[in-house]
Amino acid sequence: MRKIPLEERRKTFKEVALGFKKEEAIKEAKRCLQCKTPSCIKGCPVEIDIKGFIKFIAQGKFGEAIKKIREKNSLPAVCGRVCPQENLCQKSCVLNKKGAPIKIGCLERFVADWERKNKKRTKPKLKKRRKEKIAVIGSGPAGLVFSSEMAKRGFRVTLFEALHKVGGVLRYGIPEFRLPKKILEREIEYIKSLKVEIRTDFFVGKTKTLEELKKEGFKLFFLAIGAGSPKFLGIEGENLNQVYSANEFLVRINLMKSYLFPRYHTPIKIGEKVGVIGAGNVAFDCARVALRLGKEVFIIYRRGEEEMPARKEEIENAKEEGVKFIFLATPRKIISDEKGNVKGIVCLKNELREKDSTGRRIPYPLEGSEFLVELDTVIVAIGTKPNPLIKKIVPDIELTEDGYIKVNEYFQTSVPYIFAGGDIVSGNATVINAIYQAKKAAFFAEKFLKKCMM
Ligand code: FAD
Ligand code: SF4
Repeated sequence: MRKIPLEERRKTFKEVALGFKKEEAIKEAKRCLQCKTPSCIKGCPVEIDIKGFIKFIAQGKFGEAIKKIREKNSLPAVCGRVCPQENLCQKSCVLNKKGAPIKIGCLERFVADWERKNKKRTKPKLKKRRKEKIAVIGSGPAGLVFSSEMAKRGFRVTLFEALHKVGGVLRYGIPEFRLPKKILEREIEYIKSLKVEIRTDFFVGKTKTLEELKKEGFKLFFLAIGAGSPKFLGIEGENLNQVYSANEFLVRINLMKSYLFPRYHTPIKIGEKVGVIGAGNVAFDCARVALRLGKEVFIIYRRGEEEMPARKEEIENAKEEGVKFIFLATPRKIISDEKGNVKGIVCLKNELREKDSTGRRIPYPLEGSEFLVELDTVIVAIGTKPNPLIKKIVPDIELTEDGYIKVNEYFQTSVPYIFAGGDIVSGNATVINAIYQAKKAAFFAEKFLKKCMM
């Protein structure tokens, strides 16, 4: 896919990938073999009729194509951009055997963008309005999709969000240059058009308890509160000035727009040399954000280049933009100047030995191999965990050993009228995984409410 020029990319938060033009989309769609038993559909967790929507694109019937996608996915413009398609639908495309698979995600994105640019709106059929009130807690992809699925089934849905804006990680985590907020807004408008009531600045467990909401007549709850509490390295110096968790750094940039200071009143203090610890999608987002703030940026990773878990596309983009890499390094301590500001990070050199269960080689730090990386900012992006205060939100609920919410095969928790899905159930996963779980949970929640189950 075409991208904006490199020089512009380094300085602005504009979306990097430009998307297909009409002719490009039709040409790509015409490459589809329209297989009798399309394997790509099985590769998509929500089983979009990929063959069907691509056929419509090939015929230039974009309105029909987006209608087909929306039958299964309420967030097509988001998924077309952020799904790891190379490991999902595209991985299953038979054309992989002959060369390049169909760019299914790019085609999904194209029709979703076409719908927005042409101010079209796909209106799903809403079932007859029912009396039951449903409370959805958390407005990331899991909460948004559960809300839309239940609203389509006729239930009265209220979506509660602790922050002042809706979208969860789609809003405060994934940066503008990968997922522009106007795209997200349009998806949210669609959810609202299904008569979902949205209440922001509402922290369930604090603004009101779940028990209080129950007394207000909510019959069923869906917990989609994500798992955004940061993990730290547990080394000396992590409390110094200008050490950030990825979460804090991205929230300050994406949600509070600190890069637009003084237009927005929330500056962020970072120096000139930034080290990002980790090499997943989140680390790459942090690195590319810092780069756009004009900083020299290093990804510091304990394994080698081949083992980096981020998407290939993101790694490629980061390299092009000028992110630098320090591989095979285990941070030992962060050091400071006399004012408590970061001055550098001491690392040990690693050696990769046998493979672990994921097939990646395990790094072993070599004693006596310390080296110093001079930095004035450290961003720790080594993963997240569930909010430890979860028991305050739902006191009676059963959790796993790691603090995630336990659900059965129906996505029902140990409290029968509370269902859950997304990262708070499966740990840090993907947007499409959150959508899949929300759809399944909605299916069973309806059965529960109609007393056909359990
Ligand atoms: P979240 O998106 O975390 O949303 C949870 C919401 O619940 C939040 O808005 C939170 O404020 C709210 N909440 C929490 N507690 C309460 C409460 N008590 N009351 C009310 N509201 C509450 N996945 C991909 O597929 N592709 C990517 O490219 C990708 N990139 C990523 C980049 C970053 C920086 C991050 C952090 C994640 C990325 N992911 C990506 C992962 C993906 O975003 C998550 O798996 C997904 O957002 C999980 O959705 P969710 O609905 O479970 O939770
Ligand atoms: Fe592929 Fe994701 Fe779209 Fe499914 S939702 S077709 S996996 S890009």
